[in-house]
Amino acid sequence: MSDIHNIVVLTGAGVSAESGLGTFRGPGGLWEGQRIEDICTPEALARNRDLVLDFYDQRRAALSTVKPNAAHEALARLDRECRGELLIVTQNVDDLHERAGTKRLLHMHGELMSALCEQCGARAGYGGSMRDGTECGACGTKDVLRPDIVFFGEMPYQMELIDQVLSRADLFLSIGTSGAVYPAAGFVRSARHHGAHTLELNLDPSEGSYFFHESRMGPASALVPAWVDEVLAAQ
Ligand code: NAD
Ligand code: ZN
Repeated sequence: MSDIHNIVVLTGAGVSAESGLGTFRGPGGLWEGQRIEDICTPEALARNRDLVLDFYDQRRAALSTVKPNAAHEALARLDRECRGELLIVTQNVDDLHERAGTKRLLHMHGELMSALCEQCGARAGYGGSMRDGTECGACGTKDVLRPDIVFFGEMPYQMELIDQVLSRADLFLSIGTSGAVYPAAGFVRSARHHGAHTLELNLDPSEGSYFFHESRMGPASALVPAWVDEVLAAQ
């Protein structure tokens, strides 16, 4: 592993499961009791704005009741101590990676603690409820803030940058993701095509397991610290 200089890590809902945040595809295909298509689409927001805003208000409030687990902590240690290039791309909208101290982080599906203005496109940190008629800090319009979340059918953030780092990665690691949501599910093939070694850490085989050179099955809180120890010891 001493020839590893450029690591890209993709994380999904599984990395936050042991902190107490539900994954998307739990039993019955629900997320926190809701059907994904009733909540996470632009159509749902247009049709039933209050339901969608309430749902994300609750998810935002729930963040104060959870904390980073050993997997987030280990990735933050990797960020602090690894000498080469590193980018952690998360599909998660929670803030547990940054609360653990990770800096080299990109939220490709947006963030619960951020609001997006439908009027002017400004994105800004946001901690309260989006149903209280708060004005956009940039353009001053009322009732135009929505969760800064990439819904199904919308373009994830920073895809150009992600494609660039995948093209020069030596090692691509996927943690706690089902491999069902594109374009993230295609990152393994892109990294592998460009010559990276690819490794999956997941509770059980994912839809994309076939595409990885290596898969390790188990809880992220055990597998991630062990993997980080290996990488740092080999540097
Ligand atoms: P997913 O729910 O589709 O899949 C989660 C994966 O994690 C599954 O393969 C499961 O086997 C695995 N897993 C569950 N517990 C685990 C554990 N303890 N250790 C390791 N792996 C574990 O989630 P996804 O692939 O991230 O995809 C879907 C979308 O869900 C993303 O777009 C994300 O924005 C959204 N989401 C985010 C959060 C969050 O921010 N915490 C929570 C739910 C959904
Ligand atoms: Zn605005």
